[in-house]
Amino acid sequence: MILIVDDRPENLFSLKSILELHSFDVDTASSGEEALKKTLKNEYALIILDVQMPGMDGFEVAEFLSGNNSTKDTPIIFLSAVNTEKKFITKGYTSGAIDYIVKPIDTDILLLKVKTFHRLYEQNRELNLAQQKLQTEIEFRKKAQQQIQDKAHELNGILASIPQVAFTATPDGNIDFVNEKWHAFSGSFSEFPEVHPDDGCIKAAWKKMLLDKSPLQLELRIRKLHAKEYRYHLLKVVPVKENDSIVKWVGTFTDIEEQKEAIKRKDEFLGMASHELKTPLTSIKAYIQLLGKVLTADEETKNFVTRTIVQVNKLDGLINDLLDISKIENGKLKFDLEIIDFEELLSSTLEMLMHIYPDISLKRIGKAPVKIMGNAIRLEQVIINFISNAIKYSPQQTGIELITQVSGDNELYFAVKDHGIGISPENQAHIFGKFYRVSEATTYAQGLGIGLHICAEILKRHNARYGVISEPGKGSEFYFAIPLAGTAPTN
Ligand code: ADP
Repeated sequence: MILIVDDRPENLFSLKSILELHSFDVDTASSGEEALKKTLKNEYALIILDVQMPGMDGFEVAEFLSGNNSTKDTPIIFLSAVNTEKKFITKGYTSGAIDYIVKPIDTDILLLKVKTFHRLYEQNRELNLAQQKLQTEIEFRKKAQQQIQDKAHELNGILASIPQVAFTATPDGNIDFVNEKWHAFSGSFSEFPEVHPDDGCIKAAWKKMLLDKSPLQLELRIRKLHAKEYRYHLLKVVPVKENDSIVKWVGTFTDIEEQKEAIKRKDEFLGMASHELKTPLTSIKAYIQLLGKVLTADEETKNFVTRTIVQVNKLDGLINDLLDISKIENGKLKFDLEIIDFEELLSSTLEMLMHIYPDISLKRIGKAPVKIMGNAIRLEQVIINFISNAIKYSPQQTGIELITQVSGDNELYFAVKDHGIGISPENQAHIFGKFYRVSEATTYAQGLGIGLHICAEILKRHNARYGVISEPGKGSEFYFAIPLAGTAPTN
């Protein structure tokens, strides 16, 4: 807005009209005093000031304006009766934005000057605004940086006090802090501790972690400087994020040698115990089967023997699973792959299953008389496991389907679909793991939670895809898909 100050109403009126005609917002004051009052309340882009006024004259008004912080930079155009030298006009008005117009006013010149000053004012205002924004941004960044520094300080304090070897790294992977314990394992700030030659290389995993921007977890053996023995450590590195971008990596090496030893002893015990149990059980199984054949007793006694055989078979299955687990742990679950006809394998497996579950009906969907590279005994084990689970975890025990098909990708797809209790997505992620049982499932059937783990190991060795599609309360479809013979590399 432009303020026009003149004691003559006719002057005010004509100037106001000219400027309004050119789309300027205009305010008026008819004395120096009124003008000063108005400048206290409003912000003006330009003040057009008559020099000769009764009371305060134009120069005095300008003097006042120059002393006030909010008006000292407001441009002024003096209206004067005589041609006045600029330097004479006012002392102290330092902005430089000052000019004069001689009366009688030449409208074109007035407009030219008003436009120039107005544009200057607008540019100045924008500049000031930009500067203010910049200042705020700088302050904000300074604060944020300080906060990050404080946090880093705090984090380093915590890492210094924990019993693990700990370190932090910049987002691009340069180590920028290590705690005291680090120095026992590495002679240099930037070099990772020495890793056992059989346990791979941290650098490769580190690179992958930076590339994927995802946490790193590795079990490896490292040793202290000058020590002979390596100890198992869990290396865990997690990203610290702010506004979704990584600002730091925090890593620890935790000594897990004792846990590893305990697990090894447990595995050894499991292997030994199942082996020791297996020998007498094999004899019991043979004798009881013999007894079943030669026994000429009454029906009830024969029935007892039949039931004993069923229980002995169950026990045999459990011990075999335990033996398999211990073989998997030791990398000794070995079997050969040969070309087998899947349809033949499935038929003979189902025939055998009919003896175990004489009352269960299984619906077959599709056929796959195709050749695959596989191990018949182990694949039979997988199929039996899937079907037994479908029976175990279906309270109605009906509607179990066996789906067989050959897909366009040269794969044999086999699935066992039930309408049983189903499995929640969280549990689906774990059921192929060792000793994992869904807690709700324990009310339906007993088990050790190792069957699916063994299946997974067997299927991996067949280059197979495997998994489960399931919905709680609706049922599950356990499947595997094996490449047809001659279409994929074999182990
Ligand atoms: P187990 O049956 O001896 O517990 P498994 O390894 O065969 O061990 O299965 C692991 C777990 O997966 C089971 O305890 C059960 O919770 C779940 N599970 C497996 N098959 C099914 C199924 N068909 N329906 C629902 N849950 C199942």
